Amino acid sequence: MEYEELIRSDDQQLWKMIMSSSEADTFAAQGRFKVYPLSRRMSGSLVFLSLRGQEGDYLLIRHPAGARNTLFDEFSGFLREKDGSRLLICLQNGENATALRHAFPFTSPSCIGRSRSSFGVGDRLGIASPGHIPLFQDGTVVPVLAQQSLRELDLMGRTYRNVIDAATWAVFNTGYEGDWAADGDHLKDVDSVISALKQGCTMITADLSDYLSFKFMDTDIQTVSKEYSKLDSVLRDSIEARYRGTIKLSSSTELFYEEQLLQRIALSYNRALDHAVKLYQACWTVKKEFDFEISIDETILPTSPEAHYFVAMELQERGVAFSSLAPRFVGEFQKGIDYIGNTDEFASSFQRHAAIAGDLGYKISIHSSSDKFSVYPIIGRLVQGAYHLKTSGTNWLVALETLSRVDPTFFRNIFRRAYEVFSTARNYYHITPDPEIATDISTLSDGELPDVFRNTTDRQVLHVSYGELFKDTDLKDLFFTRLRHSIKEYWSALEAHIGRHLELLRR
Ligand code: ZN
Repeated sequence: MEYEELIRSDDQQLWKMIMSSSEADTFAAQGRFKVYPLSRRMSGSLVFLSLRGQEGDYLLIRHPAGARNTLFDEFSGFLREKDGSRLLICLQNGENATALRHAFPFTSPSCIGRSRSSFGVGDRLGIASPGHIPLFQDGTVVPVLAQQSLRELDLMGRTYRNVIDAATWAVFNTGYEGDWAADGDHLKDVDSVISALKQGCTMITADLSDYLSFKFMDTDIQTVSKEYSKLDSVLRDSIEARYRGTIKLSSSTELFYEEQLLQRIALSYNRALDHAVKLYQACWTVKKEFDFEISIDETILPTSPEAHYFVAMELQERGVAFSSLAPRFVGEFQKGIDYIGNTDEFASSFQRHAAIAGDLGYKISIHSSSDKFSVYPIIGRLVQGAYHLKTSGTNWLVALETLSRVDPTFFRNIFRRAYEVFSTARNYYHITPDPEIATDISTLSDGELPDVFRNTTDRQVLHVSYGELFKDTDLKDLFFTRLRHSIKEYWSALEAHIGRHLELLRR
């Protein structure tokens, strides 16, 4: 997208869409505001238009003289009144976002279902979405514009409502009318699930990792048999009938269960199944329609296709209608760097997982942790039906990369600070950067600064540092101010970077 066109100031006609000539002259003359032309909308007699100011965005609403429109009263702001015609200048805040979602349903997140592919972009900073939206205009893949884990919310001091509000405004300002979703990502307990849905999430990713016990995968068989015999006999009978010998799936995929393996899988996943049911039922107390994702990916051991099939079948058997399931794939999916592992091995394992999801009728979900460029074409080629893919935090890295080009002095400061806070920041994420290859930034010229984003250690250190860095609120404010100055460069860079993910998935 041409971001010059997304926010404009030069055209007096834009201002006169919503203002009298004299008001338009006043606003335009100040030179402090630009217009989002694609935001212009009508609802009944009301006219809406978004403005971009130096410090924040605004919504203007014109209520013509003589009309009566109660929607107008739902918004709050600074009122200018002349000859019965009213102009409300609203902050783009949470309260007005609620009114906006009421006025324009397309600014609310919605459910995606199982048959459409979806892509979790998330927006940790709350200002990235205009760079994502153009990539999804054709409707083939539904964006999850709001996608955050509790960890990210905590580190950024935000709530799900804040995240959804930011996406609502981005959608309105850019004139995007397609579907989009809001994911309460990696939630582990009933309270978080309920809270996320109440705040407006349309998707819940149920993280079952705390209820998985892989010790049974390699304990001696006597212990396994003993533990297995303690399981409910009705459950044992039913799973022994369901998972026996060879099970043939499409794409020539075969699963093979022998007694020992089944016992090990049942013991490893049984508590997780119960917990998934509990989380699913909790969702139902809030909403009747939501996307439910099962996440068993946050583990050390890869999920075997037999375990994946077992979990999916058992959940379906227990009435859990999930839209997607994320197994732990072979290899490593560390934050912000390419896949670590053998891509042929990944392909053959992914093909089996994708066949299971395709046969059982849900989407295979890949928690890519961003930037897994070497495996995206494999996913795109082998997926059956639709997929869900999550990126995470890459928007922050792209923001830093943008700053390294447009604001070298500030970037050097961030870079040094990121290494200072790294020993604390690394506790939040599983990453293994090699300190031997860390860049000595003082040896780089300004023009060479973007090179650090090709260094996997620098990338990872920067990637995980945001929470610790932003504890310094002065630095946080400065970061947002600087980035806001270069917002068009940032959005272009995001479009290119996330676009590369989607492009490779299409191959
Ligand atoms: Zn995950």
